[in-house]
Amino acid sequence: MSAGPLPVETLRFRPEDEELRGRIRAWMGAHDPGPPPQDFGERLDALVRWQAQLHEAGFVGLSWPERYGGGGLDLRAEAVFSEELAASSMPELINRIGVYMCGPTIMDFGDEAQAERYLPPMLDATESWCQGFSEPEAGSDLAAIRTRGRVDGDRILVTGQKVWTSRAHIARRCACLVRTEPGSERHRGLSLVIVDMEDPGVNVVALPQMLGERHFNEVFLDDVEARVDDVIGGLGNGWKAAMQMLSYERGLFVLERQIRLRRALEDLVDALLAAGTAGEREVRRQVGRLHADLELLKAQGYRTLAAQAAGTLPPGSTSIDKLFLSRVEQRLFATALELLGPDVALAMNHWTHDLLEGRSVSIYGGSTEIQLNIISRQLLGLGASR
Ligand SMILES: Cc1cc2nc3c(=O)[nH]c(=O)nc-3n(C[C@H](O)[C@H](O)[C@H](O)COP(=O)(O)OP(=O)(O)OC[C@H]3O[C@@H](n4cnc5c(N)ncnc54)[C@H](O)[C@@H]3O)c2cc1C
Repeated sequence: MSAGPLPVETLRFRPEDEELRGRIRAWMGAHDPGPPPQDFGERLDALVRWQAQLHEAGFVGLSWPERYGGGGLDLRAEAVFSEELAASSMPELINRIGVYMCGPTIMDFGDEAQAERYLPPMLDATESWCQGFSEPEAGSDLAAIRTRGRVDGDRILVTGQKVWTSRAHIARRCACLVRTEPGSERHRGLSLVIVDMEDPGVNVVALPQMLGERHFNEVFLDDVEARVDDVIGGLGNGWKAAMQMLSYERGLFVLERQIRLRRALEDLVDALLAAGTAGEREVRRQVGRLHADLELLKAQGYRTLAAQAAGTLPPGSTSIDKLFLSRVEQRLFATALELLGPDVALAMNHWTHDLLEGRSVSIYGGSTEIQLNIISRQLLGLGASR
Protein backbone atom coordinates (compact mmCIF):
# COMPACT_ATOMS: atom_id res chain seq x y z
CA MET A 1 0.00 0.00 0.00
CA SER A 2 1.26 3.46 -0.83
CA ALA A 3 1.32 6.09 1.93
CA GLY A 4 -1.16 8.20 -0.08
CA PRO A 5 -0.76 11.68 -1.52
CA LEU A 6 1.97 13.85 -0.06
CA PRO A 7 0.86 16.91 1.89
CA VAL A 8 0.66 20.11 -0.14
CA GLU A 9 1.26 22.58 2.65
CA THR A 10 3.86 25.25 2.24
CA LEU A 11 5.59 27.40 4.78
CA ARG A 12 3.83 30.75 5.00
CA PHE A 13 5.78 33.50 6.70
CA ARG A 14 3.83 35.90 8.93
CA PRO A 15 4.61 39.61 9.46
CA GLU A 16 6.46 38.75 12.68
CA ASP A 17 8.68 36.32 10.72
CA GLU A 18 9.52 39.07 8.23
CA GLU A 19 10.26 41.42 11.10
CA LEU A 20 12.65 38.80 12.50
CA ARG A 21 14.23 38.46 9.04
CA GLY A 22 14.87 42.21 8.97
CA ARG A 23 16.48 42.10 12.44
CA ILE A 24 18.74 39.18 11.51
CA ARG A 25 19.76 40.84 8.25
CA ALA A 26 20.59 44.11 9.99
CA TRP A 27 22.56 42.33 12.70
CA MET A 28 24.55 40.36 10.17
CA GLY A 29 25.25 43.51 8.20
CA ALA A 30 26.86 44.96 11.30
CA HIS A 31 28.73 41.84 12.47
CA ASP A 32 30.64 40.42 9.53
CA PRO A 33 33.31 38.17 11.10
CA GLY A 34 35.45 38.38 7.95
CA PRO A 35 37.07 35.36 6.31
CA PRO A 36 37.97 32.58 8.78
CA PRO A 37 41.74 32.22 9.45
CA GLN A 38 43.68 29.55 7.52
CA ASP A 39 45.34 27.95 10.57
CA PHE A 40 43.17 25.05 11.77
CA GLY A 41 43.18 25.95 15.50
CA GLU A 42 42.59 29.64 14.89
CA ARG A 43 39.86 28.85 12.39
CA LEU A 44 38.11 26.55 14.86
CA ASP A 45 38.27 29.19 17.61
CA ALA A 46 36.88 31.79 15.20
CA LEU A 47 33.98 29.56 14.17
CA VAL A 48 33.12 28.73 17.78
CA ARG A 49 33.20 32.45 18.61
CA TRP A 50 30.96 33.15 15.60
CA GLN A 51 28.29 30.68 16.74
CA ALA A 52 28.54 32.01 20.32
CA GLN A 53 27.98 35.53 18.98
CA LEU A 54 24.98 34.43 16.93
CA HIS A 55 23.58 32.72 20.00
CA GLU A 56 24.13 35.77 22.17
CA ALA A 57 22.22 37.80 19.59
CA GLY A 58 19.36 35.32 20.10
CA PHE A 59 19.40 33.62 16.67
CA VAL A 60 20.54 30.05 17.37
CA GLY A 61 17.87 27.52 18.32
CA LEU A 62 15.00 29.92 17.60
CA SER A 63 12.47 27.07 17.71
CA TRP A 64 13.85 25.59 20.92
CA PRO A 65 12.14 26.25 24.27
CA GLU A 66 13.51 29.22 26.18
CA ARG A 67 14.33 27.06 29.20
CA TYR A 68 17.08 25.38 27.13
CA GLY A 69 18.44 28.68 25.86
CA GLY A 70 16.32 28.75 22.68
CA GLY A 71 14.10 31.47 21.27
CA GLY A 72 10.73 29.91 22.14
CA LEU A 73 9.51 30.46 18.57
CA ASP A 74 8.67 27.92 15.85
CA LEU A 75 10.11 26.28 12.76
CA ARG A 76 9.27 29.30 10.60
CA ALA A 77 11.65 31.41 12.67
CA GLU A 78 14.28 28.68 12.38
CA ALA A 79 13.78 28.67 8.60
CA VAL A 80 14.15 32.46 8.44
CA PHE A 81 17.48 32.28 10.28
CA SER A 82 18.74 29.43 8.09
CA GLU A 83 17.81 31.36 4.96
CA GLU A 84 19.45 34.56 6.11
CA LEU A 85 22.64 32.84 7.22
CA ALA A 86 22.90 30.96 3.93
CA ALA A 87 22.14 34.07 1.88
CA SER A 88 24.93 36.01 3.61
CA SER A 89 28.54 35.11 2.97
CA MET A 90 28.96 34.30 6.67
CA PRO A 91 30.14 30.89 7.94
CA GLU A 92 27.60 28.22 8.85
CA LEU A 93 27.17 27.01 12.44
CA ILE A 94 30.20 25.00 13.56
CA ASN A 95 27.91 22.83 15.70
CA ARG A 96 25.22 22.33 13.09
CA ILE A 97 25.10 18.57 13.81
CA GLY A 98 24.24 19.39 17.43
CA VAL A 99 21.79 22.20 16.75
CA TYR A 100 19.93 20.71 13.78
CA MET A 101 20.16 16.96 14.44
CA CYS A 102 21.17 15.82 17.93
CA GLY A 103 19.38 18.58 19.87
CA PRO A 104 15.97 18.08 18.23
CA THR A 105 16.32 14.30 18.71
CA ILE A 106 17.01 14.78 22.42
CA MET A 107 13.93 17.01 22.63
CA ASP A 108 11.83 14.32 20.91
CA PHE A 109 13.15 11.20 22.62
CA GLY A 110 15.37 12.23 25.54
CA ASP A 111 14.33 13.03 29.10
CA GLU A 112 14.31 16.35 30.91
CA ALA A 113 17.63 15.74 32.64
CA GLN A 114 19.36 15.08 29.30
CA ALA A 115 17.75 18.15 27.76
CA GLU A 116 18.84 20.40 30.63
CA ARG A 117 22.35 19.04 30.63
CA TYR A 118 23.13 18.83 26.91
CA LEU A 119 21.04 21.37 25.02
CA PRO A 120 22.32 24.76 26.27
CA PRO A 121 26.02 24.08 25.45
CA MET A 122 25.03 22.97 21.94
CA LEU A 123 23.62 26.40 21.18
CA ASP A 124 26.68 28.49 22.00
CA ALA A 125 29.03 25.77 20.63
CA THR A 126 30.80 25.20 23.94
CA GLU A 127 30.06 21.52 23.23
CA SER A 128 30.11 20.40 19.61
CA TRP A 129 28.49 17.11 18.59
CA CYS A 130 29.06 14.40 16.02
CA GLN A 131 26.91 11.53 14.77
CA GLY A 132 28.36 8.03 15.27
CA PHE A 133 26.20 5.81 13.11
CA SER A 134 28.17 4.34 10.16
CA GLU A 135 30.61 1.47 10.66
CA PRO A 136 32.92 -0.33 8.21
CA GLU A 137 30.26 -3.02 7.62
CA ALA A 138 27.21 -0.91 8.39
CA GLY A 139 26.65 2.09 6.10
CA SER A 140 23.60 1.73 3.89
CA ASP A 141 22.79 -1.36 5.91
CA LEU A 142 22.82 0.55 9.18
CA ALA A 143 20.97 -2.20 11.06
CA ALA A 144 24.13 -4.33 10.75
CA ILE A 145 25.78 -2.26 13.52
CA ARG A 146 28.27 -4.23 15.59
CA THR A 147 29.67 -1.68 18.05
CA ARG A 148 28.51 -3.03 21.36
CA GLY A 149 27.54 -1.40 24.62
CA ARG A 150 27.90 -3.69 27.63
CA VAL A 151 25.45 -2.58 30.31
CA ASP A 152 27.02 -2.83 33.74
CA GLY A 153 24.78 -1.38 36.47
CA ASP A 154 24.33 2.29 35.64
CA ARG A 155 27.25 2.28 33.17
CA ILE A 156 27.56 1.24 29.55
CA LEU A 157 30.98 0.19 28.24
CA VAL A 158 31.15 0.91 24.52
CA THR A 159 33.58 -0.96 22.27
CA GLY A 160 33.77 -0.95 18.47
CA GLN A 161 34.48 1.27 15.49
CA LYS A 162 32.68 4.06 13.69
CA VAL A 163 33.69 5.49 10.34
CA TRP A 164 33.09 8.62 8.23
CA THR A 165 32.26 10.46 11.47
CA SER A 166 32.06 14.12 10.41
CA ARG A 167 33.66 16.58 12.80
CA ALA A 168 34.54 13.92 15.39
CA HIS A 169 37.91 15.68 15.72
CA ILE A 170 36.26 18.81 17.09
CA ALA A 171 33.33 17.22 18.91
CA ARG A 172 32.94 16.95 22.66
CA ARG A 173 29.95 14.58 22.40
CA CYS A 174 28.88 11.85 20.04
CA ALA A 175 25.38 10.45 19.50
CA CYS A 176 26.53 6.89 19.06
CA LEU A 177 24.34 4.03 17.85
CA VAL A 178 25.39 0.82 19.62
CA ARG A 179 24.09 -2.69 20.20
CA THR A 180 23.26 -2.94 23.91
CA GLU A 181 21.28 -6.17 23.83
CA PRO A 182 23.66 -9.12 23.43
CA GLY A 183 22.61 -11.47 20.62
CA SER A 184 20.07 -9.02 19.21
CA GLU A 185 19.79 -8.60 15.45
CA ARG A 186 19.08 -5.87 12.94
CA HIS A 187 16.96 -2.96 14.27
CA ARG A 188 16.29 -4.54 17.65
CA GLY A 189 18.55 -4.17 20.70
CA LEU A 190 20.16 -0.90 19.57
CA SER A 191 20.56 2.18 21.75
CA LEU A 192 21.51 5.78 21.00
CA VAL A 193 24.15 6.54 23.61
CA ILE A 194 25.76 9.92 24.34
CA VAL A 195 29.51 9.35 24.36
CA ASP A 196 32.02 11.78 25.85
CA MET A 197 34.70 12.22 23.17
CA GLU A 198 37.25 13.08 25.90
CA ASP A 199 37.01 9.59 27.40
CA PRO A 200 40.48 7.97 27.27
CA GLY A 201 39.00 4.99 25.33
CA VAL A 202 38.08 7.21 22.34
CA ASN A 203 40.62 7.40 19.52
CA VAL A 204 39.82 9.68 16.57
CA VAL A 205 41.83 9.10 13.37
CA ALA A 206 41.51 11.47 10.41
CA LEU A 207 40.48 10.07 7.02
CA PRO A 208 42.39 11.84 4.24
CA GLN A 209 40.21 13.55 1.63
CA MET A 210 41.09 14.27 -1.96
CA LEU A 211 40.35 17.96 -1.33
CA GLY A 212 42.99 18.03 1.39
CA GLU A 213 40.51 19.25 4.00
CA ARG A 214 39.75 17.57 7.29
CA HIS A 215 36.13 16.61 7.50
CA PHE A 216 35.53 13.03 8.63
CA ASN A 217 37.24 10.40 10.73
CA GLU A 218 37.44 6.87 11.98
CA VAL A 219 36.47 6.65 15.64
CA PHE A 220 37.78 3.70 17.66
CA LEU A 221 36.01 3.00 20.95
CA ASP A 222 37.65 0.81 23.57
CA ASP A 223 35.63 0.28 26.75
CA VAL A 224 34.43 3.85 26.63
CA GLU A 225 32.39 4.56 29.72
CA ALA A 226 28.94 6.07 29.17
CA ARG A 227 25.94 6.28 31.50
CA VAL A 228 22.64 4.43 31.18
CA ASP A 229 21.09 7.82 32.04
CA ASP A 230 22.63 9.10 28.81
CA VAL A 231 20.76 6.79 26.45
CA ILE A 232 18.48 8.93 24.26
CA GLY A 233 15.03 7.35 24.32
CA GLY A 234 16.03 4.53 26.70
CA LEU A 235 17.77 1.19 26.16
CA GLY A 236 16.68 -0.72 23.06
CA ASN A 237 14.97 2.26 21.39
CA GLY A 238 17.97 3.42 19.39
CA TRP A 239 16.65 2.63 15.91
CA LYS A 240 13.63 4.89 16.23
CA ALA A 241 15.70 7.75 17.63
CA ALA A 242 18.36 7.27 14.93
CA MET A 243 15.78 7.37 12.12
CA GLN A 244 14.35 10.56 13.54
CA MET A 245 17.82 12.08 13.64
CA LEU A 246 18.37 11.17 9.98
CA SER A 247 15.11 12.83 8.99
CA TYR A 248 16.35 16.03 10.65
CA GLU A 249 19.51 15.74 8.53
CA ARG A 250 17.30 16.11 5.47
CA GLY A 251 14.92 18.89 6.65
CA LEU A 252 16.20 22.41 7.34
CA PHE A 253 19.53 21.44 5.83
CA VAL A 254 18.04 21.20 2.34
CA LEU A 255 16.46 24.65 2.63
CA GLU A 256 19.76 26.19 3.68
CA ARG A 257 21.79 24.33 1.07
CA GLN A 258 19.39 25.43 -1.67
CA ILE A 259 20.17 29.06 -0.86
CA ARG A 260 23.92 28.46 -0.93
CA LEU A 261 23.44 26.84 -4.35
CA ARG A 262 21.43 29.86 -5.48
CA ARG A 263 24.43 32.03 -4.65
CA ALA A 264 26.63 29.70 -6.68
CA LEU A 265 24.23 30.05 -9.63
CA GLU A 266 24.42 33.85 -9.34
CA ASP A 267 28.24 33.60 -9.41
CA LEU A 268 27.97 31.41 -12.48
CA VAL A 269 25.76 33.95 -14.26
CA ASP A 270 28.28 36.71 -13.40
CA ALA A 271 31.13 34.60 -14.79
CA LEU A 272 29.16 33.87 -17.98
CA LEU A 273 28.34 37.56 -18.43
CA ALA A 274 32.03 38.40 -17.98
CA ALA A 275 32.99 35.72 -20.51
CA GLY A 276 30.46 37.11 -23.00
CA THR A 277 28.64 33.77 -23.40
CA ALA A 278 25.57 34.46 -21.26
CA GLY A 279 23.37 35.27 -24.25
CA GLU A 280 23.95 31.99 -26.09
CA ARG A 281 20.83 29.92 -26.51
CA GLU A 282 22.20 26.70 -24.97
CA VAL A 283 23.78 28.59 -22.06
CA ARG A 284 20.45 30.31 -21.31
CA ARG A 285 18.63 26.98 -21.51
CA GLN A 286 20.96 25.33 -19.01
CA VAL A 287 20.97 28.27 -16.59
CA GLY A 288 17.18 28.48 -16.80
CA ARG A 289 16.86 24.82 -15.98
CA LEU A 290 19.10 25.18 -12.92
CA HIS A 291 17.05 28.14 -11.77
CA ALA A 292 13.84 26.13 -12.11
CA ASP A 293 15.43 23.22 -10.23
CA LEU A 294 16.32 25.53 -7.36
CA GLU A 295 12.78 26.92 -7.22
CA LEU A 296 11.44 23.37 -7.00
CA LEU A 297 13.94 22.48 -4.30
CA LYS A 298 12.84 25.50 -2.28
CA ALA A 299 9.17 24.57 -2.67
CA GLN A 300 9.94 21.03 -1.55
CA GLY A 301 11.92 22.35 1.45
CA TYR A 302 9.01 24.58 2.50
CA ARG A 303 6.59 21.71 2.09
CA THR A 304 8.68 19.48 4.33
CA LEU A 305 9.06 22.11 7.02
CA ALA A 306 5.34 22.92 6.97
CA ALA A 307 4.51 19.22 7.39
CA GLN A 308 7.15 18.90 10.10
CA ALA A 309 5.67 21.87 11.97
CA ALA A 310 2.14 20.45 11.64
CA GLY A 311 3.29 16.97 12.68
CA THR A 312 2.01 15.50 9.40
CA LEU A 313 5.31 14.55 7.77
CA PRO A 314 4.83 11.14 6.12
CA PRO A 315 7.59 8.63 6.95
CA GLY A 316 10.16 8.56 4.17
CA SER A 317 9.13 11.83 2.53
CA THR A 318 12.35 13.69 3.43
CA SER A 319 14.11 11.24 1.11
CA ILE A 320 12.60 13.26 -1.75
CA ASP A 321 14.36 16.39 -0.46
CA LYS A 322 17.68 14.56 -0.13
CA LEU A 323 17.43 12.89 -3.52
CA PHE A 324 16.51 16.10 -5.31
CA LEU A 325 19.20 18.11 -3.50
CA SER A 326 21.84 15.62 -4.66
CA ARG A 327 20.71 15.85 -8.26
CA VAL A 328 20.50 19.64 -8.34
CA GLU A 329 23.82 20.20 -6.55
CA GLN A 330 25.74 17.81 -8.78
CA ARG A 331 24.09 19.14 -11.94
CA LEU A 332 24.84 22.74 -10.99
CA PHE A 333 28.60 22.29 -10.59
CA ALA A 334 28.91 19.94 -13.57
CA THR A 335 27.05 22.51 -15.71
CA ALA A 336 29.22 25.33 -14.36
CA LEU A 337 32.41 23.62 -15.44
CA GLU A 338 30.93 22.68 -18.80
CA LEU A 339 29.82 26.26 -19.50
CA LEU A 340 32.92 27.95 -18.13
CA GLY A 341 35.15 25.81 -20.32
CA PRO A 342 38.35 23.80 -20.04
CA ASP A 343 40.55 26.56 -18.54
CA VAL A 344 38.30 26.76 -15.50
CA ALA A 345 37.64 23.02 -15.38
CA LEU A 346 41.34 22.13 -15.30
CA ALA A 347 42.38 24.72 -12.70
CA MET A 348 41.99 24.01 -8.99
CA ASN A 349 39.54 26.73 -8.03
CA HIS A 350 36.27 27.06 -6.12
CA TRP A 351 34.31 25.57 -9.05
CA THR A 352 36.38 22.39 -9.18
CA HIS A 353 36.38 22.27 -5.37
CA ASP A 354 32.58 22.44 -5.26
CA LEU A 355 32.24 19.91 -8.08
CA LEU A 356 34.39 17.41 -6.15
CA GLU A 357 32.75 18.16 -2.81
CA GLY A 358 29.34 17.77 -4.44
CA ARG A 359 30.09 14.09 -5.11
CA SER A 360 29.55 13.42 -1.40
CA VAL A 361 25.98 14.71 -1.30
CA SER A 362 24.65 11.56 -2.94
CA ILE A 363 26.39 9.45 -0.26
CA TYR A 364 26.11 11.11 3.17
CA GLY A 365 22.90 10.82 5.16
CA GLY A 366 21.95 7.79 3.03
CA SER A 367 23.04 7.27 -0.59
CA THR A 368 20.87 8.04 -3.60
CA GLU A 369 20.06 4.34 -4.09
CA ILE A 370 18.91 4.09 -0.48
CA GLN A 371 16.71 7.21 -0.86
CA LEU A 372 15.15 5.61 -3.95
CA ASN A 373 14.54 2.41 -2.00
CA ILE A 374 12.86 4.39 0.80
CA ILE A 375 10.68 6.35 -1.61
CA SER A 376 9.62 3.27 -3.53
CA ARG A 377 8.86 1.27 -0.41
CA GLN A 378 7.50 3.82 2.07
CA LEU A 379 5.83 6.35 -0.21
CA LEU A 380 4.87 4.29 -3.25
CA GLY A 381 4.33 0.93 -1.54
CA LEU A 382 6.43 -0.90 -4.10
CA GLY A 383 7.51 -3.94 -2.08
CA ALA A 384 10.18 -4.76 0.41
CA SER A 385 13.65 -4.12 -1.02
CA ARG A 386 15.76 -2.59 1.73
C1 LIG B 1 30.87 13.60 3.47
C2 LIG B 1 30.32 12.45 4.28
C3 LIG B 1 30.04 12.66 5.61
C4 LIG B 1 29.54 11.62 6.40
N1 LIG B 1 29.30 11.85 7.73
C5 LIG B 1 28.86 10.84 8.51
C6 LIG B 1 28.65 11.07 9.92
O1 LIG B 1 28.88 12.16 10.45
N2 LIG B 1 28.23 10.04 10.68
C7 LIG B 1 27.99 8.80 10.14
O2 LIG B 1 27.56 7.92 10.89
N3 LIG B 1 28.18 8.55 8.81
C8 LIG B 1 28.62 9.54 7.99
N4 LIG B 1 28.82 9.31 6.65
C9 LIG B 1 28.67 7.96 6.13
C10 LIG B 1 27.45 7.77 5.23
O3 LIG B 1 26.27 7.76 5.98
C11 LIG B 1 27.67 6.44 4.47
O4 LIG B 1 28.79 6.63 3.64
C12 LIG B 1 26.48 6.04 3.66
O5 LIG B 1 25.41 5.68 4.48
C13 LIG B 1 26.82 4.87 2.69
O6 LIG B 1 27.39 3.83 3.39
P1 LIG B 1 28.77 3.16 2.92
O7 LIG B 1 29.76 4.25 2.69
O8 LIG B 1 29.13 2.12 3.90
O9 LIG B 1 28.47 2.52 1.50
P2 LIG B 1 27.78 1.10 1.22
O10 LIG B 1 26.63 0.94 2.13
O11 LIG B 1 28.84 0.07 1.25
O12 LIG B 1 27.24 1.31 -0.24
C14 LIG B 1 28.08 1.18 -1.39
C15 LIG B 1 27.21 1.38 -2.63
O13 LIG B 1 26.20 0.35 -2.69
C16 LIG B 1 24.91 0.92 -2.79
N5 LIG B 1 23.95 0.12 -2.02
C17 LIG B 1 24.13 -0.39 -0.77
N6 LIG B 1 23.03 -1.04 -0.37
C18 LIG B 1 22.11 -0.91 -1.36
C19 LIG B 1 20.76 -1.38 -1.55
N7 LIG B 1 20.12 -2.05 -0.60
N8 LIG B 1 20.12 -1.06 -2.70
C20 LIG B 1 20.74 -0.35 -3.68
N9 LIG B 1 22.03 0.08 -3.57
C21 LIG B 1 22.69 -0.18 -2.43
C22 LIG B 1 25.04 2.32 -2.18
O14 LIG B 1 24.06 3.20 -2.68
C23 LIG B 1 26.44 2.71 -2.62
O15 LIG B 1 26.41 3.21 -3.94
C24 LIG B 1 29.33 10.34 5.83
C25 LIG B 1 29.61 10.13 4.47
C26 LIG B 1 30.11 11.17 3.70
C27 LIG B 1 30.40 10.92 2.26
